[in-house]
Amino acid sequence: MISPDDAKKRKEIRPVICYPNDTLPDPELSQLKEHRKGSSLVNSIITPPRQGVCFPVKSGQFFRIISSEGPQVGDLNLWAESNLNESFYSGKTRALHGSHVSTGDRLWSNFPYLRPIATITADTLDWYGIDEYGGSVHDVIGTRCDPYTNKLLSGDNYDHCCHSNLTRALAKYKNLEISDAEQYVHDVLNVFMCTGFTKDTGQYFMKASPVRPGDYLEIFAEIDLIAGLSACPGGDCSSEHSSDEASCYPLKVEIYENFSSDKLRREEPVCNSYSGCHGKPA
Ligand SMILES: [Zn+2]
Repeated sequence: MISPDDAKKRKEIRPVICYPNDTLPDPELSQLKEHRKGSSLVNSIITPPRQGVCFPVKSGQFFRIISSEGPQVGDLNLWAESNLNESFYSGKTRALHGSHVSTGDRLWSNFPYLRPIATITADTLDWYGIDEYGGSVHDVIGTRCDPYTNKLLSGDNYDHCCHSNLTRALAKYKNLEISDAEQYVHDVLNVFMCTGFTKDTGQYFMKASPVRPGDYLEIFAEIDLIAGLSACPGGDCSSEHSSDEASCYPLKVEIYENFSSDKLRREEPVCNSYSGCHGKPA
């Protein structure tokens, strides 16, 4: 490897943030937290180990993903209830908020919509921060475990990866063929998963999730949503996924709504206002 004479100087250049996010609309977290206080439980759902479920969350409701019986990672997909083509965009959420998300961060939808479809309102793992390995929880850097990568790396067929669990769950919820549902499954929010990139090789790593029964991540629905949640076959993701080897536990979801007359004064985020012409001459 040959380095140029000024290699040191070039590497010393200080980084700048790609997307300064101080011009983003304020999520008005204190208003949401106040609204949450008067909310009551309206639905509760169990995601069995190595399975996925889809469930509706109405605009204005909160959904809480709970570790109920043991350390367990969940892979979350979100779609606009009225349009499966609008879905959670983990890549742009990462670019705007960082590699791992927590309270106050928004979950953004894909192009051409690009709007905050949900807002994180509570996270009992917010104390974790960033550990000595560069790891943190609730990442938007992983994709989801899937049978194609597993086949590529191990040669085995495995049908309970999060990609497959989410595909089956969406097919059931929307009464779609598996192949039709699969095209809508997208990169996830890795709820409770502890991940990062190794400092020496830059490789994606996972380590045992710090989640314990009773911990939760709570999310406010800014629009009518369909949520898909898979209880990852990796369990706490301390060793491997894409197999039945790890200990797996269910994930509980609780949905809350505030029925008081003092309704939340909050407009649903509008779709992005870019013209969409991409410079094509009129
Ligand atoms: Zn998984």
